[in-house]
Amino acid sequence: MNPRLREAILMRQTREYKGLPEEYWHRQNFCWYIHDIIISIFWDCIENDKLNTKVTFKDEDHARRFNRTDNLFKWLYENGYADKADIIISKQVYYGILSDMCHFIYESLSAIEKGKIAVSLALLRKPFRDNLLYLEWLLGDPKEFIELVYKGDIDAYAIENIDAKKKKQIIKNALCLIDNKAFFSKMNEEVYYDLRYNYSAGNSLQRVWNRANHLVTTKPEIRSAEFNFVFLNEDIHIEFIDYYYRQVPHLLFYTYCLVIKLYNSLIRRVATSTSLYNNSLIVFKFIDSIREIDAIEHFNQLPKELLSFPCLDCKKVIKIEVGSKEFEGFRTGWSFSCPDCKNNINISKYVFLEDYKKHPDNQ
Ligand SMILES: [Zn+2]
Repeated sequence: MNPRLREAILMRQTREYKGLPEEYWHRQNFCWYIHDIIISIFWDCIENDKLNTKVTFKDEDHARRFNRTDNLFKWLYENGYADKADIIISKQVYYGILSDMCHFIYESLSAIEKGKIAVSLALLRKPFRDNLLYLEWLLGDPKEFIELVYKGDIDAYAIENIDAKKKKQIIKNALCLIDNKAFFSKMNEEVYYDLRYNYSAGNSLQRVWNRANHLVTTKPEIRSAEFNFVFLNEDIHIEFIDYYYRQVPHLLFYTYCLVIKLYNSLIRRVATSTSLYNNSLIVFKFIDSIREIDAIEHFNQLPKELLSFPCLDCKKVIKIEVGSKEFEGFRTGWSFSCPDCKNNINISKYVFLEDYKKHPDNQ
């Protein structure tokens, strides 16, 4: 197991949700779970030089000229390797934006479990207002987005300069391409736009971010009645915690759907069995976190192999039964104890079945 991943799990096991009413612990667990799934996809990009791109030159002269040029991207674009230049830039943007996004989400989740509600909401602004839109753009219209990035046309892609119509188009394009669409049937581009960018939309994140980031504001649609968040009574404090857990789980689930789709188009295409296996488990955890599912009924409808987890310590594939102790570990946490070797089997990671099968220990 990746040592950083192991460290993250061990640290998580000692977490205490001191500032959080118990009724939200299950959703906080899901948020950490999906955060770790995203992180595991991110770390996989780094393994085995997957972020590198191989360029095969058409002759030796091209190879020589490329090695002598000061502007690699310009040379690639002008000499018939535009597809390679696009993919190199796309990978860099994907990696950079995702890394930055995960840092903010991690800190927001850490803050809310300590009861620091204003801090946790303020920390969501950058990942869900900025980073998420760039991931959507990179997925939905990579050619257009990468061209702007390559030209350094920041006036065209700075979030505040992208008008409402364009933002909705970017969101719509991405929503059309992701898997698990059934879970986003109520989330069209209008809903996601209002939630993330519209000050005038009732209970939007944009209004909440404004309150979390400023002590007093005078804009008509968000005018403060007093110091924002400074004199919160207990009821209003709970109201904001409740708001956090109504919005963040589905935004994180949506982020996962984008991240894995981009991974497939930029890094490598995963096998259908890998996609089916991981999506089934992640979707279960998502709908279970919002309490809209009967766990036994759900898994009785799915092939039994889906509840199988590779143990990296004893190298066995552990099949678990619905309702077992192990199943409860899977359902409510991020790991369970292997019935054979008693070590922890981490379930908070994307399992690339093709890598597991290729490993010499698993032949
Ligand atoms: Zn084991």
